[in-house]
This record gives sequence, C-alpha cells and structure tokens, in this order.
Amino acid sequence: MVIIMEVNANDLQIKNVIEQIHLKGLKPHISTGEERTIIGVIGDDRKLQEANFKTLPGVENVFRILKPYKLVSREFKRDSTIIHINGVSIGNGHRVVIAGPCAVESGEQILKSAQIVKSYGANILRGGAFKPRTNPYTFQGLGIDGLKLLQKAKQETGLPIVTEVLEASDVELVSEYADILQIGTRNMQNYQLLKAAGRIRKPILLKRGMSATLQEFLMSAEYILSEGNQQVILCERGIRTFVEYTRNTLDLNIVPVIKKLSHLPVIVDPSHGTGRTDIIIPMSLASLAAGADGLMVEVHPEPEKSVSDADQTLSPAQFGELMEKTKKLINIFN
Ligand code: PEP
Ligand code: MN
Repeated sequence: MVIIMEVNANDLQIKNVIEQIHLKGLKPHISTGEERTIIGVIGDDRKLQEANFKTLPGVENVFRILKPYKLVSREFKRDSTIIHINGVSIGNGHRVVIAGPCAVESGEQILKSAQIVKSYGANILRGGAFKPRTNPYTFQGLGIDGLKLLQKAKQETGLPIVTEVLEASDVELVSEYADILQIGTRNMQNYQLLKAAGRIRKPILLKRGMSATLQEFLMSAEYILSEGNQQVILCERGIRTFVEYTRNTLDLNIVPVIKKLSHLPVIVDPSHGTGRTDIIIPMSLASLAAGADGLMVEVHPEPEKSVSDADQTLSPAQFGELMEKTKKLINIFN
C-alpha cells in the first residue's frame, strides 16, 4: 500500500501515519520528494484497509500496488532512480561503461587493465576477487588479496570498483573495498545474501539469474530495497535457452520492459550474455539502443592469458573500438 501525503502535510501528520503502520505490525518506507512525502507500507498489507489511512489528517490518497514487487515498481516511484558513485552517475540518461577482467589475477594485471579501460573512457573498473566457478578445480579468485589489489588500482587510476560478493557473511568485508557490490547470476535468489546487501548503504549490481523470469528478477531486487538499500542496478547477462552458438541468450527485450515496470537503472553484460568476443560490439550497441543505462564488459591486457572467460574477453584494441562506436551511438541519442 502507498500513502500519498498532502503537499502541505506537517511532520506531526506524517509521524502519525508512520505510527499507525507500526501499530499494524508493518514497516513504513518514507520517501521525501521535493513536493510531498510518500509512505510505502512494507510487509503483508493484505489485512489493511485503505479507508483506515484515507481518513487520517494530512493524507491525500491511498492506493494498493497490485504487483508483488512494490518498492522497485514505477507505481511506487515514478522518477527513474539515479545512482551516484564517486562522481559517476547511472540511470535516467546517465550511461556508464564498466570494464575490466573477469577475475583479478595479479597486481600488475589489474592495474594494467584499469589503465587501459580508463584510457578508452570506461567509468568503472570490474574484477572478481571471489569467483563463483562452475568447476571447483578451477581458479576461485584471490579473495581478500584481490580486493586489496582492486583498491590499489582504484587509487592509481581514480576508477570506482565493482566486485562480486558470494556470501552474506562477506558483505561487510567486500563493502569496505568495493564502490558497488555485485551479486552474480548464481546468487540472484540467495535471499540471505540479498537481505545482507539490503542492510548496507552501497550500490548493489544485481545480475539476472540465468533462468530467472522478469518477476523473479524484480522480486530479488525488492528483497534489497525492502531492507532499506535503495541503490540497486539491474543487469541483464543472458539466459539459458536451447541455442548452442552463444554461451547464453542476451534477452534485450527485458530492458525496455523493466524500464516500464521499474524506476531502477538497467545495464547489460554482453560478455556473459554472448560468450563470444566477435559479437560483443554489436550486442553492446544493441543494448544501448534498447535503452540500457550502461554496459559491463570483460577486458584483459592479454585475453589469451586470462585465467577465466578468455573466449568472451576483449583485447585493449577491441575495447577501444567498442568505446569509439559506443560514443558515436550515444551522440545520436543526445
Ligand atoms: C561476473 O560478472 O564476473 C560473473 C561471474 O557474471 P555472472 O554472474 O553473470 O555469470
Ligand atoms: Mn567472467
């Protein structure tokens, strides 16, 4: 349920509504706009009567959001969310390019990667320190040492960093280093992790589960927002289909559909979405044309030496070409 306060509602009237919500055993979510305050009711509000709130002083309107996701929906928040990270903005026309290797392999590798992607105009550096690998016998990431190397690369280049967190118990640790915490496809429905991510105050990059429906994807984001963290960036990264010529099928349909249903920024990862360097550039351009607020791509100083995902990792020259074409396309939009 959403309670819209009158433009001139005073603090006492707002406090009263909040108290009434608490009395029903539910949680209020207060969003203070320039004009008016909107109060969302979080929890199972099925037993609440709109009429109980409509008659309270200072209340203009009360309505129910019928979809199961509430806080992420455009019904709850009409204006697109913009996320600010160290001078970089994402959402509502602010587009970003996140680039870097699949995994942090060494100090030299991540620093070189950072310098390369920065020189071509990337806004944010990526690199996995904790890697969720399908095969337990392959490289699992450098862990905390990897986080420290990312931090060093950030200090040297000024690029904010995004890195994956695999477990709820690591959220605090990773948030000490990362500017954005990534939750990967395999963890999109790890509810303990989502809740822990909801309790911190850093942006979360939530990747779509490889078999997740649109609704499941948005419900996972709702977990994060319902814990109080409003800064979620959604990321389409391809889904499992019957096709065998790509690693995954990049579902670009979801971009404009999410934009309709949700105020959250949406980016696309054509690296994992295709698994093939030869089609990353066209699919990146297609993602932006579909309305994505940015891209996340894997880039390595020497892709053939990449310890993971070498087949989908762009070389510095390929990344340069991608950035050149991306800038031209964005100029058309602007
Ligand atoms: C990644 O971006 O490093 C990653 C592991 O991606 P995904 O979770 O989409 O497979
Ligand atoms: Mn990868």
